[in-house]
Amino acid sequence: MSASLKNKSVIVTGGSKGIGKGIARVFASHGAKVLVVARTPAEGEATVAELVAAGGTAAFFKADVSSRAEVAAMVAKAVELHGGLDVLCANAGAFPACKLADMTDEAWDGLFVTNVRSMMLCVQAALPELKKSAAPRVVVTSSITGPTTGFPGWSHYGATKAAQLGFIRTAAIELAKDGITINAVLPGNILTEALVGMGEEYINSTAACVPLGKLGTVEDIGHAAAFLASAEAGYITGQTITVDGGQILPESPAALTA
Ligand code: NAP
Repeated sequence: MSASLKNKSVIVTGGSKGIGKGIARVFASHGAKVLVVARTPAEGEATVAELVAAGGTAAFFKADVSSRAEVAAMVAKAVELHGGLDVLCANAGAFPACKLADMTDEAWDGLFVTNVRSMMLCVQAALPELKKSAAPRVVVTSSITGPTTGFPGWSHYGATKAAQLGFIRTAAIELAKDGITINAVLPGNILTEALVGMGEEYINSTAACVPLGKLGTVEDIGHAAAFLASAEAGYITGQTITVDGGQILPESPAALTA
């Protein structure tokens, strides 16, 4: 991996647990200075303590990314603590299940606020500082659900994750004049704390649908994000990397056993 992430100032929204924690861990292991952002201080502080104990540079900042004011304060904190901002990982998101027949205006709009508007707010707030960076990057965590696949109960979630990709394609053009790249990682089923809590049977049955025969780790997503933030990825913008062990490939269950 590139040494180009050393000393970079990186914000990871939703960095306190799950995929964001994996992203934070990978960036910290490459010598980046990481600001972990979430709403729950206990989890965020515990993650930062782990990163620091492993030799990394990290701090926690409490913010709700759906708040314009709190997102502005988040960027200011990265500048204050880490001397600027080079990389924004817009990862925070939610995935409540709701069948289409039961969908309410609140459930639909609320998820668009959390997953789409918050991402836009973070990118917008980061722009003035990213423009000052020698190699400014934005990496969005989308999903295979929506852009590529579907799952009952997640019509609103899938729509938000596909919307993120519509956003980055135009943002990539608008940001290019300032040398800022913006790309997205599309995780498949990743072994987060929440997924581990669903039990071994669920994990095994899901893994059986994946050609590589296992679920992804949070670090698998972190490595893809780190690549997109690296010097080597400087000519890639408006693109996606699917990290799913081949999950989207089989055209039928028979393809896995043929
Ligand atoms: P997770 O374990 O539930 O973690 C979500 C993180 O986001 C937490 O740090 C949470 O902290 C933070 N967060 C949520 N809402 C926030 C808000 N309004 N303001 C600030 N922070 C907020 O979820 P995950 O599975 O890691 O998912 C992370 C991202 O990956 C999401 O965008 C999700 O769509 C995507 N993804 C996940 C999977 C998977 O298999 N897990 C697959 C595809 C895509 P607080 O609650 O303390 O704020």
